[in-house]
Amino acid sequence: MLSSTGYGATSATEPLSKLNFQRRDLQPDDVQIDILFCGVCHSDLHTARNEWGNTVYPVVPGHEIIGRVTAVGSQVTHFKAGDLVGVGCLVDSCQQCGSCAEGLEQYCENGFVGTYNGEEMHSGGMTYGGYSTNIVVRDKFVLRIPERLDPAGAAPLLCAGITTYSPLKQWHVSPGKKVGIVGLGGLGHMGLKLAHAMGAYVVLFTTSQGKREDAKRLGADEVVVSRNTSEMREHRDSFDFILNTVAAPHALDPFMELLKRDGTMVLVGAPASPHPSPQVFNLIMKRRRLAGSLIGGIAETQEMLDFCGERGIVADIETIRIQDINDAYERMLKSDVKYRFVIDMTSLKQEA
Ligand code: NAP
Ligand code: ZN
Repeated sequence: MLSSTGYGATSATEPLSKLNFQRRDLQPDDVQIDILFCGVCHSDLHTARNEWGNTVYPVVPGHEIIGRVTAVGSQVTHFKAGDLVGVGCLVDSCQQCGSCAEGLEQYCENGFVGTYNGEEMHSGGMTYGGYSTNIVVRDKFVLRIPERLDPAGAAPLLCAGITTYSPLKQWHVSPGKKVGIVGLGGLGHMGLKLAHAMGAYVVLFTTSQGKREDAKRLGADEVVVSRNTSEMREHRDSFDFILNTVAAPHALDPFMELLKRDGTMVLVGAPASPHPSPQVFNLIMKRRRLAGSLIGGIAETQEMLDFCGERGIVADIETIRIQDINDAYERMLKSDVKYRFVIDMTSLKQEA
């Protein structure tokens, strides 16, 4: 077994603190990784505080992992010690079902294994995530990070990047399309950069007046403060596609009304309690659609990393020490993140 040190929660109400635990013995198809950076996703906070009601304690969050390979199992041919690699939200799946066969491991019909708070297929214990010194992951779930990208800025691509890239591709976002991104947080700012890079006309919706200039700099053609009804009205019936990344319950109708005939709004934000139901007539009258999307499969995640590698796209980040993770969570709740916290894991190695 490999000893690991991380930061995790022991209950919904305790702050995250240092924990020691074991990683499984290296299996023939495993890759062992020394973690350099880990992004901080709002899902980490939802899980640490048991807001989705499914947390098994202790939980070590973190699924935007960047590191260097330190060892590989006897059957691993695609990775070697020293490679710069990433691990996202998935670390295993059945590899047998129709969804896995299509490369859609996130929809595995037998249940995928999450990078944290998931059931380990080898030991039957729980998986522990990337707020830690090292991790052991099945080779099929390890991603290659383009060396030209800043490794800290690339970390958020592993969740925020793929979660926004996948629906943008699925709904054919491209030049000539009018696309809305709702919420300028971790997911939202990646959605904005990616939709812009795909050539769409992008409108960013925010509740934070102070983010207007940043949104323009990040690639928005227009910025709308969503609490301003007259600004919203100007965009009625005009969008092909809207990607909603908001982490809190809110009224969906003001956004549904902005879709043109056959337009779709996709929800990726996953608040702990439900949104108020949208008006059925808002769907019926223009054959509008409301849909959801979960992260992305491994092949598509590699495609997204290569897309970002070719264009030099990384997240705008604020690097933090692991000891500051609890303050970072409080700032995330106040929408005060520009635009993703990334933990520099040397802070943990020095403490460990
Ligand atoms: P985040 O960085 O905290 O960003 C969320 C943004 O939503 C905020 O910055 C804010 O943007 C906006 N917002 C927050 N509270 C709001 C409110 N009450 N009303 C309106 N807007 C509000 O979070 P994140 O890491 O991007 O994650 C967003 C959500 O996606 C979370 O629920 C997370 O669990 C979920 N998620 C889903 C998937 C998936 O596969 N579907 C994957 C990863 C994460 P403004 O200041 O611009 O308004
Ligand atoms: Zn995430």
